[in-house]
Amino acid sequence: MQEKVVLITGGSSGIGKQVALDCAKKGAAIVIADIDDIEGSRLQFEIISAGGRALFQQTDVTMSSSLQDAIRVALGSFGSVDYAFNNAGIESGFAGFTADYEEDLFLKMIDVNLSGVWRSMKYELEVMQEQKSGVIVNNASILGKVGHKTASPYCASKHGVIGLTKTAALEYATKGIRVNAVCPGYIETPMLERIGVIDDEQQRTTLENMHPVKRLGSCKEVTNAVLWLFSDEASFVTGTAMEVDGGYLAR
Ligand code: NAP
Repeated sequence: MQEKVVLITGGSSGIGKQVALDCAKKGAAIVIADIDDIEGSRLQFEIISAGGRALFQQTDVTMSSSLQDAIRVALGSFGSVDYAFNNAGIESGFAGFTADYEEDLFLKMIDVNLSGVWRSMKYELEVMQEQKSGVIVNNASILGKVGHKTASPYCASKHGVIGLTKTAALEYATKGIRVNAVCPGYIETPMLERIGVIDDEQQRTTLENMHPVKRLGSCKEVTNAVLWLFSDEASFVTGTAMEVDGGYLAR
């Protein structure tokens, strides 16, 4: 990680924040690219106060110009983009069956969770091709591999992320660029708090029981997988969608 530059979309909170903190601890320079400027600025301060290198760039993954700015700032301040964690995402909640979703919400989910990952990759890959090196990890989900009643836009977006990941892995395999995804099970983050499952004991137990390990995952457990995929230890790993899910998908 020393001398490496890591760009993290959705890096102000939850899983992205943990990846930022752990990469910074290992000596990387971090570009936190998130729509949330209060938490993003706070995290930048936290990393710099601990002796690390970080900058926050307010970024909306639904806008190409915003992502281009984030890349420009990364190159201007730190000189490269070696690793990217395309992680920004939103939840739909469990808002109804497929036909019950409002079109606006469906399209917004796709715009942030799927098109946002594609836009991020588009500009990261431009830089990585010039560098002739780079590693991208996209944050998909267990719901990128199976369906879930009442979550059709989320499932559709995350299945799309895995398709993008595999396709780009094939395309850039001989150009020094690896592209993988992680597929977390349910992880304790503000996203789960927002959909009410952390504080509601009954819902939490139901969710925990869906994982054979009978608990939710932590941001740290996903981060460990992301850092391994970034590392040269994973030099022969590309095009994979790695499950970090307490056995959820093994059933
Ligand atoms: P989180 O704590 O809500 O973090 C997501 C971050 O992304 C937030 O800071 C959010 O800002 C930001 N964001 C939202 N829209 C954005 C946009 N248009 N442009 C840039 N940043 C944006 O959620 P998390 O649970 O860590 O989720 C991170 C990723 O993991 C998501 O892709 C999610 O689908 C995936 N995931 C999560 C779980 C889970 O159980 N938590 C499981 C599997 C996969 P705001 O807070 O201001 O919206």
